[in-house]
Formats: sequence, structure tokens, C-alpha cells
Amino acid sequence: MDNNKIKILIADDSPTVVEMIRFILEEKGYSTVVASDGVEAINSVYKEKPDLILLDILMPKMNGYQVCRLLKGNKDTAYIPVIMLAASEQKSDEFWGIATGADEFFTKDLAMTQLAGTIEKILKLKPYLDKQAPAHPFQKKEISSEEILSRVNILLDKKLFESTVINEISKIASATYNYEETAKSILVLLSRIVHFEIGALLIEEVGEKKISILLNAEVNESVIKKIRKKMIEKINNDKPQEHRELTSFKIKIFNKEYQIAKATKNLKAFFNIALRARGGVIGILSLASSKESSFSKENLETLNVMADQISMVINNVCLYQKINHLSITDELTDLYNYRYFQDMLKREFERAQRYDLNLSLIMIDIDHFKTVNDTYGHQQGDIILRELGVKFKKEVRESLDTPVRYGGEEFAFILPSTDKKGAFFVAERIRQKIAEYKFPGRGKSLKITISLGVASYPEKGIGQFSDLVKKADEALYRSKEEGRNKVSVYENKK
Ligand code: GH3
Ligand code: MG
Ligand code: MG
Repeated sequence: MDNNKIKILIADDSPTVVEMIRFILEEKGYSTVVASDGVEAINSVYKEKPDLILLDILMPKMNGYQVCRLLKGNKDTAYIPVIMLAASEQKSDEFWGIATGADEFFTKDLAMTQLAGTIEKILKLKPYLDKQAPAHPFQKKEISSEEILSRVNILLDKKLFESTVINEISKIASATYNYEETAKSILVLLSRIVHFEIGALLIEEVGEKKISILLNAEVNESVIKKIRKKMIEKINNDKPQEHRELTSFKIKIFNKEYQIAKATKNLKAFFNIALRARGGVIGILSLASSKESSFSKENLETLNVMADQISMVINNVCLYQKINHLSITDELTDLYNYRYFQDMLKREFERAQRYDLNLSLIMIDIDHFKTVNDTYGHQQGDIILRELGVKFKKEVRESLDTPVRYGGEEFAFILPSTDKKGAFFVAERIRQKIAEYKFPGRGKSLKITISLGVASYPEKGIGQFSDLVKKADEALYRSKEEGRNKVSVYENKK
């Protein structure tokens, strides 16, 4: 590279420093221009179009950080490399300097001669940086200091707005670990920032794929379908090798006041963005608006910033849900595990005591399961356990009752607001269903039976949650003694 053609802007308010740098650079053959404050530095960039900028941090009128933000925040000047000059080595200076978009950091403590090396290093990257220059580069011009200051204000305001939005999203992140709540809060926040009739979040998770939709106007079914199609297209474009089917998505519509109706607004503008995390696409955010101006350039910038944050929040919720699910679930049967059982029973027992409610516990043990294992093998035994998990889940009230794998071939059901009679009825129904069920087996189907024990609160002898377990276990033992395939209920006869 011919150094003569390289023009470097030195922005520093200390004449001594400027002279020193100038001397070093001119010796290397670079041509130089000088600015002694921040406003002059910006002006010089537009007037001289330098190839590289050396920016002192502490300067009058506008400091180096502000100058750098302004230059890097404008696509006309963003491609010009900036080296920040710090007075001494300060971690926070470097952090902030890099945050403003500076390409390099140089401390004036170091021998100034090393500056030439840093400059060479950056200039080696120039061909790549130049590629980021706009197709129509700006013409050299004078700009007034009023305009420069006004630009700083606009930029500051924009940054403050972005930080506020990011802060709002972080608040959502710390307030909820539940996917639906998070999705709803995000869509509500978005609706406070941009106008849209339909806001939709599609989340891809192993096992479940959901679309959460927020309606801000009455729309009809075909519009929802259109949005859904756009989302799937977007996701399929991103990962064509894993083509998704339209049908496998669950849709959840928030806010009751806007139902799906016949009438619909004429939607004119659509916005789709992939939410990325863990090196892949985890979802799509889609907005549809009747106003063409909804997704203006400024709004798009905000939406892009938000999309990054939203991805992070949703990724965290997904991870939390996954870990939470793993920690409370038995892997083989997909029922709740022993740990969850203990917590849940304790909680339900306290609730029953406080509000004077019924609470029942059913304990279950498979009859002669050892024989099943010995005859058909342990693997077949596992198949039966898994199948029991599926059957048991079907037998209880979803989100009210808790079906648990208590231990190896022992199970339990926690039934809130259920008295002794009710629990016996449930237990008896389960016993019958299992006795009749043909379990899949290699070649032929298998039959098994189970024994059950029931204990309920309130009842004499049941003063704490562990008594429920003890008494239900005793009742179960009685069922075994009395011939198995039977339900026994704990009763205090005294
Ligand atoms: P009963 O309860 O009717 O008295 O007879 P049982 O044969 O079921 O007796 P017991 O409860 O003593 O035996 C439990 C058996 O369950 C022992 C073990 O081989 C089997 N088992 C426990 N956990 C598992 C498991 O995770 N997979 C399989 N395949 N078998 C298990
Ligand atoms: Mg047992
Ligand atoms: Mg058994």
C-alpha cells in the first residue's frame, strides 16, 4: 500500500501529543489532518474523508466516545476505522470505547512508536472495511456544529430509547419463567411501541411447537392462517433441510376482547424476523399491520434490537422449562418423580388444612411384577411401566391431580379436593381398567393387575402429610394380603 495515499485524522486537544503523532505518521509516509475538539473531528471527517481516525477520549465540546458513536451510528461513516487514544490504561475506558464501536484501543502510556504498528494492523483490514462502505459514498462537505450537536442529541435519544426497551424486556425475563406469560408480555410490550393488528410469536421446542397470537383488532381466520403460513415459510427458509408441517403447531390466542370475527382490517404491512439462539433459529416473531408506515426504517431498527433481546428471553424460558421438566419428571414413564411428589403432597396437605379441604392419596403397586420380569425380561417390564404411565395420565384430571412414579414399580396419585369415597371410586376405576388392558408385548399381549391403597384427609390418625403416605401404604399392603388386584381404604375405626 502506498502510504502517501493514506490520510489519517488525528483528533486530540493536546498540541504536544498531536505533534508527536504527526511526526511518527509522516515519517511513515502517511498524510495527516488534525482536529482539536470533537465537533471539529466530525467536521473534518466529512470535509476530508480520512482513511483512519485517531480519537482522543478526552476532548472539548464532544468527547471521543460521542464522536465514535456518531460516526459508527451512521452508515456513511461507519466503515472508517477508529482507534481510540486513552491517556492511561483503564479497563472501563476500553470497555466503553469498544462499546461505542471503536475498532482498536491504544493507551498513550505505551511508547508512541508502537502506534505505527497498530495503524498498520488496522489498515491491513482496510479492503474488508471498504466493502462495508455504502454504494454511494458521501461527497466531501462542510457541516455546521449545530447540525453535529443535533445529530448527537438524536443519537443519544435513540440509544436511551433502546436501553429503555431492553430494560423492559429484561424485566419480563426476571418476572416470569412461564412461556405463555412471557410471550404475552413481549407481545403487549411490542404493541406499545409499534402499531399492529396481529402479533404472533412462534416458538420451536422439542416436543411442543406453539404459536402465541396477540390480537389488537378483530380479524378473521384466513388472516391468522396467512400469518401462520408466513411464519412457517420463514422458518423453512432458514432450515430447509428440516421442513416443518403446518399442522404440528398449537395456537394460543391471547386477549378475549378481540375474537376472531368475520370482519377484518385490510392488512398492508408485515414484519417477520427469526429469533436466534444456541446457534440456530428458535422461533419467529411476526407482526401484521393495517398501516403501511408501521414498519418504517426507525421502527425496524428498534424491532431488530428488540428481536435480539426477545430471543434471549425466550431461550432462557425454554431452557428453564426444559431443566424444570427434567428435574420433576421420571424419564421412563414421563410421570412426576418422587421429589416432586414430596413437595406437592406437602403443599397440598397444608392447603387442605388451611382451607378445610379434602385431600386423597392413592398408592399403587404392580402385582407379581418380579414374575413378569423373570418371565419376559426386564425390557418387557419397562415397556409395561411406560405404558402404565400413559394410562395413568389419562385417568386423572389434567392440571389438578398429580400422577407419580413413586419408585420402581410403585405409583401414586395425589387427588386434591377429593374425599375417601371419591378416591375409592377413582382407584377402583383404575384397577379395573388396568386389569382389562392388554399391554403390548413381543408377539403377544400381556395382562397385569395392580393393588391399591387409599388414605384421605381429614381422618383421625392423619395429622401430617407423611401420615397420608403411611396409611395409604398400609392400605396397599392390606390389598396385597387379601389377594391383590384390589383397592383398600384406610379408615380409623376407633
Ligand atoms: P407383589 O408386589 O405383588 O408382592 O410382587 P412383586 O413381584 O411386584 O414384588 P416386589 O414389589 O417385591 O418386586 C418388585 C419388582 O419390580 C422387583 C423388580 O424386579 C421390579 N422392578 C422394580 N423397578 C423396575 C423397573 O424400573 N423396571 C423393571 N423392568 N422392573 C422393575
Ligand atoms: Mg413393590
Ligand atoms: Mg409389586
